[in-house]
Amino acid sequence: MANCKHCKTRNAPLRINLHSFCDYDCATAYAKNAQDKARAKKAAESKRKDREKLKSLKSNSRNSSECQKLFSKMRRLEELLWFKERGIEPYCISCQLPLGNDQWACGHFKTRKARSDLAFDRLNTFLQHNVRCNKHLSGDIEGYKRGLAIRFGDDEAKRIIEYCEVRQETLKRTAEDWQAMKKQLNAEIRRLQALLDG
Ligand SMILES: [Zn+2]
Ligand SMILES: [Zn+2]
Repeated sequence: MANCKHCKTRNAPLRINLHSFCDYDCATAYAKNAQDKARAKKAAESKRKDREKLKSLKSNSRNSSECQKLFSKMRRLEELLWFKERGIEPYCISCQLPLGNDQWACGHFKTRKARSDLAFDRLNTFLQHNVRCNKHLSGDIEGYKRGLAIRFGDDEAKRIIEYCEVRQETLKRTAEDWQAMKKQLNAEIRRLQALLDG
């Protein structure tokens, strides 16, 4: 006879399934322990999944904000190049004034918060005063519309605004997608910077 599966007493007389037990009390206690262990394992597994999900959400938001910074930098350079190629002093999309005592920002027509689908969209982002128009006037959207018309003409401005009104699906990006995007943006920033410096 084998040892009791529960309390390890030798020569346990009761056989249930493939195990030996002293009696039904030991068998019941053993079954209950097994059940508790299974429950604890399941709970630990679900906790681990939650932790992983949170981790992936955090890394997604970190990647997104890193890419947003790079995209903004790229758009500022693209915009400065757009003006340079036309021999025009760069001016703000919202107030149509030159830089003055401000910094250039990549101003979103539709905010990133409201429209994550347009966060990385060229047609939603133009050169804007960082402090005066972006921060203090919340993007000055009426001025922004005027600015689009002044820069691109009424028809094109209308087309851009209409494009921005239509909600698209926000792309779900994996960690690899974000890495690829960063690489691409950095390369484009270097290319634009060289063109601007040249
Ligand atoms: Zn026992
Ligand atoms: Zn401005």
